[in-house]
Amino acid sequence: MSFSVHGLAVSRGIAIGRAVIVASSRIDVAHYFVQTEQVEGEIERLRHARNEVAAEILKVQQSLHDLGPSDAHPELTALLDVHLMLLQDEQLTGGVKHWIVERHYNAEWALTTQLEVIARQFDEMEDPYLRERKADLEQVVERILRAMRGVSSPVVSGHPHPGQDNAVDVPLVLIAHDLSPADMLQFKQSVFAGFVTDVGGKTSHTAIVARSMDIPAVVGARSASQLIEQDDWVIIDGDAGVVVIDPSPILLAEYGFKQRQGEVERERLSRLKNTPAVTLDGQKIELLANIEQPEDAVGALKTGAVGVGLFRSEFLFMGRNGKLPDEEEQYQAYKRAVEGMQGLPVTIRTVDVGADKPLDRVAQRAGEDHLNPALGLRAIRWSLADPAMFLAQLRAILRSAAHGPVNLLVPMLAHASEIRQTLALINRAREQLEAAGVRQGAVKLGAMIEVPAAALTIPLFLKHFDFLSIGTNDLIQYTLAIDRADEAVSHLYDPVHPAVLHLLANTITQCHAQGKGVSVCGEMAGDVAMTRLLLGLGLRSFSMHPSQILAVKQQILRCDTTRLQTWAQTVLAAEDPAALMTD
Ligand code: PEP
Ligand code: MG
Repeated sequence: MSFSVHGLAVSRGIAIGRAVIVASSRIDVAHYFVQTEQVEGEIERLRHARNEVAAEILKVQQSLHDLGPSDAHPELTALLDVHLMLLQDEQLTGGVKHWIVERHYNAEWALTTQLEVIARQFDEMEDPYLRERKADLEQVVERILRAMRGVSSPVVSGHPHPGQDNAVDVPLVLIAHDLSPADMLQFKQSVFAGFVTDVGGKTSHTAIVARSMDIPAVVGARSASQLIEQDDWVIIDGDAGVVVIDPSPILLAEYGFKQRQGEVERERLSRLKNTPAVTLDGQKIELLANIEQPEDAVGALKTGAVGVGLFRSEFLFMGRNGKLPDEEEQYQAYKRAVEGMQGLPVTIRTVDVGADKPLDRVAQRAGEDHLNPALGLRAIRWSLADPAMFLAQLRAILRSAAHGPVNLLVPMLAHASEIRQTLALINRAREQLEAAGVRQGAVKLGAMIEVPAAALTIPLFLKHFDFLSIGTNDLIQYTLAIDRADEAVSHLYDPVHPAVLHLLANTITQCHAQGKGVSVCGEMAGDVAMTRLLLGLGLRSFSMHPSQILAVKQQILRCDTTRLQTWAQTVLAAEDPAALMTD
């Protein structure tokens, strides 16, 4: 019977497919399809790993036995027996085989999928002893995965789509309790047609990456990952924030129709690619792209972006088990982005880890869960706490500027002392390169305005920086004291709260008065419902995910900024600006 779950709409469109439930802890296995002729090889890889694990366990058992009865560890021996039994368990081995043969999942993916299926059955058991066997099963699977790591599949690098092979041609949607931004990045190359997570807010970085992938996504869907079963048919309505499970034929037809309508609309929008973004009254508007990886430059150019307004460099740093990219690796990545943009400017933001962008999957260190990471050692604070790391990044950015126009953007500054330290380090990085005779280029320096303290001291920033970029995601979070990643308070996350609008208007006006560039690079810039207001407040430069550029451009083409200016002043003066937004 169909039922639906409601969450937050974070990435538009409709996806219809079978559910792949992924436990957060298992997200780092590769997910790809194998070709028919590779199915046997995958099964063999799995069999080989299982045998290896069984041999390991038998060896440990033998050594325990050799210790003699006085040193025997009866509990350990019993545990190893359980593990051996689980290794042979028909439900595990048969199930894994099913996912490989029927669905062409690679062995690791098949194994973790079947683990999810069995783990749920354990969860539902009344008997606490049996329930606890789930942990044993997870350990066994972990051991098999480890054994398999030594022998990778021949097709790991490719991601053949199921459509390439007639045996499987069903779209898949990913359902997880939570996904970190780094996980999302991994899925960027993957086969999934949509995402649902139980947790997350509209401007959480997981949601932002989903939007950048331009596939339908719903976050904050509470217990979706518990209610949806492996392989269920699911509809993700990324416009309404609804997930329909086991849809009836009528619902399927209705959503199928909506999906096709969406495709037609995209096709229509794509014709605007080469149309200049100019308002009815002749104001030229700059539409820039937000990117997470150098390769995203291709997509940015495809939608007609006139540059990159925000390259979130932290995505190069995440999910690497603490091994950070060195100067050379970063330089190569920035250079790829710069060259990819073919002479258009690239704004590289220095690393912004922390808060909901942990370096690795474990968000916080043990004993620190009483701390609020959004208020902690994040962004520029993190960089200034490790000058050697920061200098390496600054040198890499300066070097990349020898290959094309580069702007260097610094996140989350709030204090004059931070500005001083940052500028001093930029100078030091320049001198170091000079002393070493390494080629570098000139960069424009920009500061992000994302803390109310910064928005209230704009003259200080204008004194030291060439341009400002308003990070509304954080500016809203810190102005309203709303955790942007927490769906429980997402109804209070209000981009048009009068306080937010005043900070925005003030920043834009002061930049214009001094002839300095200002743009918005938070999610507000890509939200078509906000385009008129931002234009009315005087904004002329917007940075957003490439997938949003054409829809925003369409809005711009219909706008008259002189009229919007007057209207924006009434919105700014209103007690409840939201009520005026549809005027
Ligand atoms: C912002 O805060 O608006 C922003 C663009 O930075 P991020 O979303 O990466 O924190
Ligand atoms: Mg930010």
